[in-house]
Amino acid sequence: MDDNGLAPTYQAARDRFLAAADDAGTTVSSFDHPLAGLDAEPLAVDVAELGDTTDSAALMMVSGTHGVEGFTGSALQSHWLRAHAADRPDGVRVVHVHAFNPYGFSWVRRVNEDNVDLNRNFVDWNAPAPVNERYGGIAHLLVPEEWDADTQQATTVRLMEFAGEIGLDAMQEVVSGGQYAHPAGVFYGGTGAVWSHRWLERNAAGLAGGASRLGVLDLHTGLGPWGHGELISHEGRDGPGYRRGTEWWGDVRSMGDGESVSAPLSGDWLGRIGDFVPGVEITAAALEFGTVDTITVLQALRADAWLHAHGAPTATGAAAIRAQVRAAFADDDPAWFEAIRARFDEVSSAAARHLAAA
Ligand SMILES: [Zn+2]
Repeated sequence: MDDNGLAPTYQAARDRFLAAADDAGTTVSSFDHPLAGLDAEPLAVDVAELGDTTDSAALMMVSGTHGVEGFTGSALQSHWLRAHAADRPDGVRVVHVHAFNPYGFSWVRRVNEDNVDLNRNFVDWNAPAPVNERYGGIAHLLVPEEWDADTQQATTVRLMEFAGEIGLDAMQEVVSGGQYAHPAGVFYGGTGAVWSHRWLERNAAGLAGGASRLGVLDLHTGLGPWGHGELISHEGRDGPGYRRGTEWWGDVRSMGDGESVSAPLSGDWLGRIGDFVPGVEITAAALEFGTVDTITVLQALRADAWLHAHGAPTATGAAAIRAQVRAAFADDDPAWFEAIRARFDEVSSAAARHLAAA
């Protein structure tokens, strides 16, 4: 089967992944999601494992944390299973988590069934949620009640004025850093641990197996230059995982220290996985592949948020918004996939090599 492109739907991506996992001789476990997908298909997180649970190192690769970004992550996982399963170093178990947020993947959304951004949901829910006061001032502009051409034009102009006042970096942080007060808005973190969060908390120890060293690659799209793959660490530059990451991969950008294409944010899952597998040495990064420019991505997210807050997600016109979202996060140009696949190969093989050598 051709692994050189992105599948048209979640179901097609899942079928390709499961076929590749089967051909590679992996052990597959499927964890059913309670809701159905866009085409009424069942949804699940699928886990494909290769190696021995007694291996002292494990490499975990994850797709679809941000739903729609899973078209790319899934294609890379299927590619790895077909092209690289045989080069897995001895002593390194490899675990592919397919569609961490299967609902968003199927519905072509970055968020999950609760309009929650999974990477803003891993805050400590025993403490009050973080406050993003300035978001409140522009919430009605980001996701207006109407989404006709005039409203889009008027709200976009006002958002640009706001960006002009506070600067683009501050604007990115206000919009995308995470907010917990506007459930219909963008980059919403929720009010408690969502389904995928609870799933990870229950299953993280099983995913890590007996490993004392765990590498994690979380596959993302939508930030940075076209075809470029930036490694992003949730740690500061003095963090041990960040330092190991730079030894493995060279250039790793620290989100917290403002080096990254991503704004500093609250509640990303890579920042919490250590709590679920205490005592395991973790070297984790998000691998973020650039697609289109930030404004085009934001317009797609605003349209999607409007559709689910005020529109009709199953009506005919909704398909155009889904196509807009898909285009912002997944590029069907074979040259794009070729570029990011080469980068993925380099990063994943370096991780496996360093985990084996340690
Ligand atoms: Zn993402």
